[in-house]
Amino acid sequence: MKKNWKKVCGLILAGILGIGILSACGDAQQTAGNGDGSGKITKDPLELTIHLHYWDTTAFDDNWEVFQKAGDITNIYLKGTVSKSATDSKQVFNLMMASGDLPDIIHTTKDNVVKYGTEGAFIPLNDLIEEYAPNIKQFLDENPEARKHMTAPDGNIYGISFIPAGKVSMGYFIRQDWLDKLGLEVPKTVDEFKAVLKAFKEQDPNGNGLQDEIPFFAKNKEEAIRIINLFGGRTDWYAEDGVVHYGLYDPEYKDCMVELAQWYKEGLIDAEIFTRGTKARDELLGGNLGGATHDWMGSTAVYNDQLKEKVPGINFVPIAPPADVNGKVWEEESRPQYGENTWGISMSNKHPEETMQYFDFWFGEVGTKLMNFGIEGEDYTMQDGKPVFTDAILHGDKSVLDALVEKGGQIEIGFRQDFWYEEQWLPQMAKDGMKLYEENGYLAEPFPMLSHTPEEMKVIEEKWPAIETYIQECQQKWLLGAEDPGASFDTYIEKLKSMGMDEVLQVYQAAYDRYQNQ
Ligand code: CA
Repeated sequence: MKKNWKKVCGLILAGILGIGILSACGDAQQTAGNGDGSGKITKDPLELTIHLHYWDTTAFDDNWEVFQKAGDITNIYLKGTVSKSATDSKQVFNLMMASGDLPDIIHTTKDNVVKYGTEGAFIPLNDLIEEYAPNIKQFLDENPEARKHMTAPDGNIYGISFIPAGKVSMGYFIRQDWLDKLGLEVPKTVDEFKAVLKAFKEQDPNGNGLQDEIPFFAKNKEEAIRIINLFGGRTDWYAEDGVVHYGLYDPEYKDCMVELAQWYKEGLIDAEIFTRGTKARDELLGGNLGGATHDWMGSTAVYNDQLKEKVPGINFVPIAPPADVNGKVWEEESRPQYGENTWGISMSNKHPEETMQYFDFWFGEVGTKLMNFGIEGEDYTMQDGKPVFTDAILHGDKSVLDALVEKGGQIEIGFRQDFWYEEQWLPQMAKDGMKLYEENGYLAEPFPMLSHTPEEMKVIEEKWPAIETYIQECQQKWLLGAEDPGASFDTYIEKLKSMGMDEVLQVYQAAYDRYQNQ
C-alpha cells in the first residue's frame, strides 16, 4: 500500500506543479477563488469527502450549519465518512487507513499526519500553500513556531493544525472563606501551603464539629502528582539548556515522591485520590469538604456561583502557585500553542488546489469569524465591531462550547481560535486567575509537540506503553504507602533503563534538536 500511495501521489504532484506554473503566469486571482470576485472557489458546487472524528466524541455531521454556510460562500461542501455512532477515534482512523479507501480530506492527530504523510498517503502542502493559501502562508511566515509544529522530519508540511487561543489552562484554587475563618493568609510558599492544608484538616473550617475536611483533592491522580512541582520536580517532558528530560526519570523525582507520600500519610491529600474521578469537585466542594485543588481555571471558577445556596459563603479562588522549595513560583501546565488536531489532503483527492483554497478560507477573516462565533444573527450580532454572542448561546441549557459544536462551530479543524470567543463567557474570576498566571510569567516554557521520523515512532510505539504503565504503577504504590519510594527508587530507574527509557529519551532529543534547527 505504501508504494501505491507514493506512485499515485507523484502523478497528482506533477499535475499540481503544472497548474501552479500556469496560474503563476497568467492569473492573479488566487485569493478571489474562481476569479469572479464572489468568494466562491469553484464555479459549480463541489463536494469533498472528509474523515473527521476526534477525542472519541466528535464526528463530522453533514448537517452542521457552520459548514453549510461555508459551502454557500465557497461553493465547496463537505461530506463526512465516519459514522456518528463511532466512539473510538483511533480505531476508526486505523480502519480507514487499512481499507486503502481514502476520503479527500483526512482530519486526525498531527502524529498520524506526519506518519502517513511521510509514507505518501497525504500530499505535501508546501507548494500549494505558496500558490493557493495566502492567509495560511502569512500566518506561517509570521509564526515560525507554527511552521515548525506543522513540518514533518522530511521537511514537508502534510497538514494544517488547529491553533488554540489562550495560554493559561490550570492553576491552584483554595477556600478563601476557610482561610478567613481560621485567620490564615494565602499561602505563598510550599511550607505555608502545607501548614494551611494541615490547619484545614485539624481546625474544622466547615464548622460541623468533625475532622472531615479533605485538604487537597483533585479530579485525577495527575493533578495530585503535580504537587511535586512544589518540591522542585517535573511530571512531564521538558527541555533545559537544549537537553530533553522526562521529569519522572529525573533523580530529583525520588525525594519528591518521598515528600508527597508523607503528605498523603498525614492526611493532607484525598485518600481516594486514585478513585474519586472527575466528580471530585462536585462531591467535595458540593459537600463543603474540599479545601484546595489544582485544576482548569475556567471550569473551577464556576463553583462559587453554582453552590452559593448549598454551601453558603463558599469562596473558592485561584491563587498564585506557592513558591517551590527553591523559592521559584511557577506553573508546569499550560495550553498548547499549536494543536494536536490537524487536517490534510489525501493522495486520492482530485481537487488539491481547490481543497487548499478551502483550507485557506478557514484562516481568512470570514472563515475565522464563522468557526469561532457561528452564524451571524443567530449565534452572535456585531456590536462596536465585535461579534457578541446572543442570549440563546450565552444562556441556553448547554455550555457555549457545546452549543457551538452542535452546529459545527469551534470544531478543531485547521483554524485560528479567537480568545474573544471564550472571554465572553468565562467567569471574571477565571479571567483574573489567568491574568495572574500569565502576566507574572509563572508558566513554564511549553515543550513542543515534536514530529518523529518513522524510525523514531517505532521506538516510541514499542517501548513507551509499557514504560508508562510501570511508571504509573510505581506512583500509586509510593503515594499510597504500599512501597517506600526512598528504598525502591534505584530499582525503579534500573527497570526503566531495561525497558528502553534511554532510547526513548534519545528519540525525543533527536526530534527536539531537529525542531530547534528547522
Ligand atoms: Ca469539619
